[in-house]
Amino acid sequence: IEQVNLYADHGATALREDLAASLGVDVEQVTVGAGSAGILQQLLLAYCERGDEVAMCWPSFEAYPVFAMLVEAEQIRVPLHDETFDLPALAVAITPHTKVAFVTNPNNPTGTVVGTDEIVEFLDRVPSTCLVVLDEAYTEFVTDSRVTDSTLLLADHPNLVITRTFSKAHGLAALRVGYAVGHPDVIAMIDRTLVPFAVNDLAQRAAAASLAALDEMSVRVADVVAERGRVAAAFRSAGWSTPDPQGNFVWLPVT
Ligand SMILES: *Cc1c(COP(=O)(O)O)cnc(C)c1O
Repeated sequence: IEQVNLYADHGATALREDLAASLGVDVEQVTVGAGSAGILQQLLLAYCERGDEVAMCWPSFEAYPVFAMLVEAEQIRVPLHDETFDLPALAVAITPHTKVAFVTNPNNPTGTVVGTDEIVEFLDRVPSTCLVVLDEAYTEFVTDSRVTDSTLLLADHPNLVITRTFSKAHGLAALRVGYAVGHPDVIAMIDRTLVPFAVNDLAQRAAAASLAALDEMSVRVADVVAERGRVAAAFRSAGWSTPDPQGNFVWLPVT
């Protein structure tokens, strides 16, 4: 980085182009924000008004309730089933007032995944008035073969938006860069709520550099995946049960 006296590119044009090329989507289908948590907050600001509903399974990512409260939306919390998102039950809980439904894959804090086929069935049941936010903060760590490339679902489901981040597998959490992939109209809605210059220049450059080093990232991810398996196996042989971990952490229920 050479100059901090100049403003960053608010639209993060170069990074968006790199992401679109890497993901195989149009540049209008991608945007970046101050972490994917920043994008989740933007989504609720853009889509929800007081009294609207936001649906999720629970326990899940602790930021969802914070953002729901910010926009004074009602929270619909559907219990996990076997520590895993219960998509059939979540679909039933969605009403005409539900503006956003979160699907966290892998889930935080349990580390469990749902298969892509289940997500397709869920999308087929969700009304088009509800935006489905597929939070894939840990997607790079998934080894379960039931999970396939979710960006392929976008063509048939304009109410699906996928959020990902440079914070976890890319190791850039402190720099605050996340991205969303979705229909151009949804992406435009997210962009309307971005705080001016929220993704700073260093963050944009670091994210682009990390995207250009996916081979190196894969090596680090493989190390984490191996360690995750070792830890989960040690827990199980010590008599503790842990669901199959698919993120960069292992969930140990102690109650
Ligand atoms: C870490 C995390 C995020 C957000 O991370 P950012 O640093 O804001 O990109 C989003 N969702 C889940 C489930 C997470 O665990």
